Parts: sequence; structure tokens; C-alpha cells
Amino acid sequence: MMNITPSSINQVNYSLKELQDIFSAMNSSIIVAITDRTGKITFVNDHFCKISKYTREELLGQDHRLLNSGFHPRTFFREMWKTIGKGEMWSGEICNRAKDGGLYWVKTTIFPFLDDSGKPYQYIAIRVDITAQKDIKKITHIAYHDELTGLPNRRKLEQRLENEFHQSRRTGEKFALFFIDVNRFKNINDGLGHIIGDMFLVEMANRLRNVDYTSNSIYRHNSDEFVLILNDVDRIEDKAGEIISVFNKSFIVETYEFYASISIGISIFPDHANSVEELLKNADIAMYAAKSSRGNQYRLYRSNMEEINDKWLLLETKLHQALKNDILELHYQPKIDLKTNSIIGMEALLRWHDPELGYMPPDHFIPFAEQCGLINDIGVWVIRKASAQARTWNDLHNLNLRVAVNISPIHISTTGFVEMVHEVIKETNIDPHFLEFEITEMSMLDYTEDLINTIKQLRALGITISLDDFGTGYSSLNYLKTFPVDVLKIDRAFVRDIVPEKSGIAMISAMISLAHALNLQVVAEGVEEEAELNVLREHGCEYVQGFYFSKPLSVEDFTKLIVNRTM
Ligand code: C2E
Ligand code: CA
Ligand code: CA
Repeated sequence: MMNITPSSINQVNYSLKELQDIFSAMNSSIIVAITDRTGKITFVNDHFCKISKYTREELLGQDHRLLNSGFHPRTFFREMWKTIGKGEMWSGEICNRAKDGGLYWVKTTIFPFLDDSGKPYQYIAIRVDITAQKDIKKITHIAYHDELTGLPNRRKLEQRLENEFHQSRRTGEKFALFFIDVNRFKNINDGLGHIIGDMFLVEMANRLRNVDYTSNSIYRHNSDEFVLILNDVDRIEDKAGEIISVFNKSFIVETYEFYASISIGISIFPDHANSVEELLKNADIAMYAAKSSRGNQYRLYRSNMEEINDKWLLLETKLHQALKNDILELHYQPKIDLKTNSIIGMEALLRWHDPELGYMPPDHFIPFAEQCGLINDIGVWVIRKASAQARTWNDLHNLNLRVAVNISPIHISTTGFVEMVHEVIKETNIDPHFLEFEITEMSMLDYTEDLINTIKQLRALGITISLDDFGTGYSSLNYLKTFPVDVLKIDRAFVRDIVPEKSGIAMISAMISLAHALNLQVVAEGVEEEAELNVLREHGCEYVQGFYFSKPLSVEDFTKLIVNRTM
């Protein structure tokens, strides 16, 4: 093959005719065309005709743009013309379109021919067909990449792990595998639809890619599972922190804005595994442990995790069944009006007795239900059950009892919460004025506009909102003014401090005054002693709840209580 460089062409100064003869005589796979300075074709060799499927007559005199495929952005050719227009050689891969519409790829080098003043007066383009290579590249890309997110896929991950495994065996260097899983992805997918779910995953993949932009080590393992390979095991904690912090920002997908969180399980080779399979399995186990432990978003594998996970899985299954089979129960604790000493309402509290596990306290299984996503179904069940019960009691005994339901911050933040409540109200026919939602002060601390809006809508329906466990979250006064609430529930911890030797009395008194100044009603919870009651009454607290009056009671016992009290 001839060795042509721009300088050699210009130096030798062949006549156009001579060049054409040379190229015509070259019986190789090289594709050659010559155009004038405007791009009009003045010469093509046979191979050019063959690949473009145009006859020579159809091509000569035509603008070379005839072959444009539309594949490249306009800027691509603008750059090319800028280069050759200056008299410099240009080289690149171009996708052209043949006469029959088919696309073909050519590696192209264009040499400008310069006139005496140094300006190009014609261009020779020499091309080689690379279509086959391109297809192979494309096929390999598809095979090893995830279509939705563009990330390398599981197959590619397996390759990488094999390589890392052998390298680690050779060099003794460790590497870590992060198993990253979206918490409650099912809720996003089911609640907002698969299209939104997909768009969320794309955005999530982009964020993960940014965390890892230097090393190309993020893989999509499965629907909402991603894997990161980290060679620098000293950076495990930093990396986990970086990944988690990426989720501090809300996701905006179409018209939805929401937060998503993840759980990460990490295993190290060879510390935690002898094989690639085991490494993946143990990272998965650690991920599951991270998911079940509240507030711990990443976990390094430990050998007893499997056992713990089995327990969580058992718990999840059992809780699921308890809900399905109506084994969960609500007990009701009366709230007393201190002025009249009568029952004005009751708080519904979940009870779960499992035949094997025994009594499971709600402050154990509620956080777990929040983690595994069962809380939404449980929440709906509680609201429905409590509303129906309150309606029955009020109707049967001609009462005006208001039932208070504890609402999980996770549940109230789901889309469609207000609509669901509206449905339940219609279905159970309860007057919303007899319905109260208790939301903990803690969960209001990192409130969002959306949460405030939801609460406003609930209040507009007629539902009373109370701030539960008040005093434990250290709300500032300013916050309190912004929260659209009706009732403050003073936490038991403050009531317990009402003893002469502690400064609790001053504290309670301040809280009550504060609530009244903000036009809020006050409920003190966990009242056990008469002495506590007296102090509360003295300082103007209007409602109390606690063992002093009654423990939470079953439906049967609560019925007896109201019948006796009101008759
Ligand atoms: P909470 O909302 O602060 O409920 C009050 C807790 O204090 C209840 O515990 C109640 O039985 C207990 N208590 C009432 N009076 C006294 C008293 O005088 N002394 C003492 N020592 N304790 C008293 P329980 O029923 O074990 O519930 C614990 C927590 O579980 C609740 O705290 C609430 O956060 C959560 N929970 C209960 N039921 C539900 C529910 O249906 N949904 C949600 N999201 N959370 C619930
Ligand atoms: Ca409560
Ligand atoms: Ca409380």
C-alpha cells in the first residue's frame, strides 16, 4: 500500500490526472474520493461506488453531503471543515448512508491540497470500511451494559470480579464489594408507576456514576440493586458516606419530588469470602442487615449476620401474615378532661401477640415495619380500624369520643396519603372531627413543604393534629409557629420529672404556658401518680392520659369503661 502523507502529496505535486490514475490502479480495499474546495465530488474509485451503492455518474458533480447519514451532530462536520479549511489533515470515524439507505462506517482521513497561496483547492479523502468492527463494538456494548442506565451490567461485573479475584490471589491485595439497594423501591414503583420508577433509577445511576467518576466501578446488578467495586479498602467508610450523602438531595422526576434512601452491605475479599459467589452473597447479607437496623445505612459483613437476617426475615413474614390474617389488634387508652373528669377520647395503640414470638411491643416492630415497607399497609389498617371503632362507640353510646391514631412519618410522606384518609373517612362514615392524628415532634424536625401541605389538607378535612412526644425533639419556638398543629402532647419523660427534688415542675409549667400562648391544647401523657396529676391541674393542663386513670384497654374492656362511666 502506498504511504501517503499530506506533505508528500503536496511536495510531489502530482497532477490531478496522475493522482486519479494512481488511485484507480490501487486494487485495495481503500475507498477514495476527491472533492473540490466546496465539497463537490470530482473523483471516486471503484470501491467508493461499491460501498456507497451509487454509480460513478450519480456521484460526480454531486455535493459530498449526499452521503451524510444524520448520525453525527452538525458540530462534528463544522469541526472537520474548520481543520481542513485551514489546510490541515483531518482524521475520524464517519457514519455514511448508502444509496439503499444502509449505514456504513468508514475511518476517514482527509488531505487538503494547497494552492500557491497556501489555500486548499481540493481534498482527497481516503477511507477504510470499519462497519464490521463497529457492529462488534456495539454488540459487545449491548451485551455488557444495562440498557436503561447505561451502566455496565451483571455480566460485566462477573468478569470484573473474576479479574479482581485472580489479581488479589496473585498480589495479596484486598478489594471490597458494596451491595447497594434502594429502600422501599417497590413503593416508588407501585405508587408512582414503572415509568417514574425507571426514570428514578436512571437519575440514581447518574448520581452513583458521579461518586465513582474516576474508576468506572459501578454496576447495575438487578432492578434496584447496584454494585460498587473498591480497590482501596482503606476508603470503605469514606466511600459509603459519599454514596449515602448523594441521597440527601430529593429526586425530582416529572412532577414528583421525593426522597429515596439506600442500604449498603459491604464485604471484603479475601477477609469475608473464598470465592466471588461468596463475596456477593455476604455483601447481600450485610445489606439486609443494614436495612433491618434502623438508621444504619451501611454495614460491613460479620459472620453472625446470617442468623440475624433469618430472624428479620421471619419477623417480616410473620408481621405480614399478622396483618393479612387480622391478628393485629388495637387497644385504646382513654384521655381525660381534667375540668370535667370525663373521657373525651382515646389513643389507639397497636398490639401484636404472636403465638411463637410472644408479645411484640409496638416500639420494636413499628421501626422494623418502617424499614421493610410494611408500615404503609399497617398504617391504613390502623386508621380504618380505629375510625370504625370510634364510630361504633359514638353511635351506640351516644358519645363524642375523638380517637387518636399514631401516624408514622414515613407513611404520611407517601403520595396519596390524604386521598387514602379521605377514602377511609367515607368508607367508615366517621365524622373527621372525631379523628386525631399524632405525629411525633422528632419526625417534624426535618419537615418538608410537602409534609406541611399534607397536614394542612388533613386539618382542612376536620382532623385534629397533635405533636406527640413533645419536648424530646427540642423544637424551637419558631418551628412551633410554622407547624399547623392543634395539640401538644407533653412527653412522659417530663411528667416523670414532676417530683419536688427535680426541676420538672418549672419545665412543665413553661411548656403549658408556651402551648397556650400558641393557642394549642395540652395533653400530658404517662401520668401515673396523683402528685403528677395535681401539679398538671394546677398549671392549667387540660387533658391527661396515663396508667393513673387507665392502661390501654382491649375493645371489650374499653366498652365496659365507657358504659360504666357514662351510665
Ligand atoms: P406513644 O405514641 O408515645 O404511645 C404512648 C405509649 O406510652 C404507649 O406504649 C402506652 O402504652 C404507654 N403509656 C401510656 N400511659 C403510660 C403510663 O402511665 N406509664 C407508662 N410507663 N407508659 C404509658 P405502647 O403502646 O407500647 O406504644 C409505644 C409506641 O409505639 C407509641 O408511643 C407509638 O410511638 C408506637 N405505636 C403504637 N401504636 C402505633 C400505631 O398504631 N402506629 C404507629 N405508627 N405507631 C404506634
Ligand atoms: Ca402517641
Ligand atoms: Ca407519646
